Amino acid sequence: MKTIGMLGGMSWESTAQYYRLINQEVNHRLKGLHSASLILRSVDFENIAFLQQKGDWKEAGKILSEEAINLEKAGADFLLICTNTMHKVAPEITASISVPVLHIADTTAEVLQQENISRVGLLGTAFTMEQSFYTSRLTNKFGIEVIIPNADDRTVVHNIIYQELCKGKIKDESRKKYLNIISALAADGCQGVILGCTEISLLVKQIDTDVPLFDTTELHALAAVSSALS
Ligand code: GLU
Repeated sequence: MKTIGMLGGMSWESTAQYYRLINQEVNHRLKGLHSASLILRSVDFENIAFLQQKGDWKEAGKILSEEAINLEKAGADFLLICTNTMHKVAPEITASISVPVLHIADTTAEVLQQENISRVGLLGTAFTMEQSFYTSRLTNKFGIEVIIPNADDRTVVHNIIYQELCKGKIKDESRKKYLNIISALAADGCQGVILGCTEISLLVKQIDTDVPLFDTTELHALAAVSSALS
């Protein structure tokens, strides 16, 4: 089994999900007492979130690249950046190490293609929804059309992520807001919706809606297990 390097802590609430999902899937596939071989570097998210707000992606990329180098030195065979947003600096991180980075947009897009989804809604931080690093990858590399919510809804989605989900606060009223936004995307012709922030599945689950949801945390974790066991 290969050793997975996890760049986590963004936020730790979702990193805990990754840890559980990866170990559960390894045990499901190998049985017995098998669990994942992994190394976790969990950063202090306050620092990273501050740099995001400042727009200082260069410094954030530098910090995460240093952590990626440490994971490689510690024996990681490949890396997961356990957040959609910080894939903004995936090119810098990838360039700083010699082991591969399993890109979260790619692992999601591969499943969308298998499900014949060509027009999809995207929920995530404002950075993920509004900047091109994520949506262009889905469109240019995989031919998937990505629809984002309107400006007011994007603010709602973004604020709930940072003010609630990253702090472990799960509120029914916020779930309702998300479900309304998901319905609006479906009404706009989206065949499914990407939960493009690794905390969203703490709030919204497939049983809450008929609209097909694509949970990036789960898809990324499952792809990591497939890579580790290949
Ligand atoms: N975990 C989130 C994501 O997947 C948001 C936290 C962050 O800004 O990294 O985008």
